[in-house]
Amino acid sequence: MSGEEYSEKKFDGEAASSLVKELRGSFSSGKTQSYEWRISQVKALLKMVVEQQDQIIHALRSDLAKPPLETVVYEIGMFKNSCEVTLKELKQWMAPEKVKSSITTFPSSAEIVPEPLGVVLVISAWNYPFLLSLDPVVGAIAAGNAVVLKPSEIAPASSSLLAKLLGKYMDNSSIRVVEGAVDETTALLQQKWDKIFYTGNGKVGRIVMAAAAKHLTPVVLELGGKSPTVVDSNVNLEVTARRIISGKWGCNNGQACISPDYIITTKDFAPLLVDALKTELENFFGKNPLESNDLSRIVSSNHFNRLIKLMDEDKVSDKIVYGGAKDESKLRIAPTILLDVPRDSLIMSEEIFGPLLPIITVNKLEESFDVINSGTKPLAAYLFTNDNKFKEQFVKKVSAGGLLINDTVLHLVVCTLPFGGVGDSGMGAYHGKFSFDAFTHRKAVLYRGFTGDSSLRYPPYTDTKQKC
Ligand code: NAD
Repeated sequence: MSGEEYSEKKFDGEAASSLVKELRGSFSSGKTQSYEWRISQVKALLKMVVEQQDQIIHALRSDLAKPPLETVVYEIGMFKNSCEVTLKELKQWMAPEKVKSSITTFPSSAEIVPEPLGVVLVISAWNYPFLLSLDPVVGAIAAGNAVVLKPSEIAPASSSLLAKLLGKYMDNSSIRVVEGAVDETTALLQQKWDKIFYTGNGKVGRIVMAAAAKHLTPVVLELGGKSPTVVDSNVNLEVTARRIISGKWGCNNGQACISPDYIITTKDFAPLLVDALKTELENFFGKNPLESNDLSRIVSSNHFNRLIKLMDEDKVSDKIVYGGAKDESKLRIAPTILLDVPRDSLIMSEEIFGPLLPIITVNKLEESFDVINSGTKPLAAYLFTNDNKFKEQFVKKVSAGGLLINDTVLHLVVCTLPFGGVGDSGMGAYHGKFSFDAFTHRKAVLYRGFTGDSSLRYPPYTDTKQKC
């Protein structure tokens, strides 16, 4: 449904049901399953983002005051890369995979045939509204499905641009956008889908999974969590500080699912780290970061107030060692560092998803394993160290969606790595071939001829047969 149609007519259960019926008809016709259709639609998406780059930058400025370079790198650049990898590799991904068969079935041959699931639903979040919408859609199309995208209402300019552009560039008999909030999403969730791919918070993730369970629909849940960053004292301090800042404030001002949520370091080293972060923050965003064009604003007043509550809690308000400035009228919060916050504070109990960075101090870095493992499994965990033994321990002992040693966030751009959570940070994964797999059924096929038809398997089960 296009943005214009949406404003004229409420999207309810009836509209959702007829949309799914229409797309199911299109899927059943077989058109989405051909290699040519899949390639043509991925090329159309690529053309769309290349031709409409300025409009995309503009929509993100309107929704989040997102710096254009961040949009070009993380939303457009990453998405273009997904399309290019898909165009290059799709033939190979679609090819049946020959596998060994069993002595029991001799003579026979076996293969795994990738098969599209059918009609799928993608529900996306507001913080990277283009990438988080279009990246799963590429996987769904590449795998040969019909797809409905429901972008986030919290980023309205991006949502309406997505509806407009997909309406214009894509084959609308099989690819559609439904705009809306809870009511519209609820209407969509009541339908039977062949897969639901949801990005957002865990509370809604549970609603999505419960709705999917009614139809035995499989889900991918791309959720969040508190991603820890452990910093050893043997690091290159300047590079470490710059990379933490880039992953925290250089990614949507902390409103990113894999932004460093908090730091763990030793008591002795913490003041040095804080000083290095302060110096580099000032180099990047100046003395008055509230005025910087290189920092996104907070997406809404709800999120602004939520963040202020975390910062103003009695237990932590005197722990601010850098930043703390805010401007409610512009929904801006400056990069803020809090040192030695208590572990039972609000800021350490929920995902921050904003520009506040608490630091927990420990006597020995090994204690960070207990700190991390006492919480739910995060989407990402970062370690800065030169100690190879400690790296090994970290990889072994920390369970998270993904790990990155000596940097932040960049594991996201390596599309040979699966991107997804574990435990409370989600289930399933995507990017590169993993996106194709997320929307594909791997069908087992065994081929036999008519020779070698041993009578052993057939009744009567005589004593002689039982002895064999
Ligand atoms: P959001 O508010 O945009 O919600 C996500 C989607 O859920 C939207 O499309 C929204 O319309 C829908 N929704 C909201 N309430 C609903 C309800 N009651 N019933 C049905 N649908 C509903 O985004 P958000 O949840 O604020 O996103 C932030 C969270 O997402 C953070 O936890 C973050 O870590 C996580 N996230 C994860 C990833 C990832 O790739 N793993 C990426 C981005 C964000």
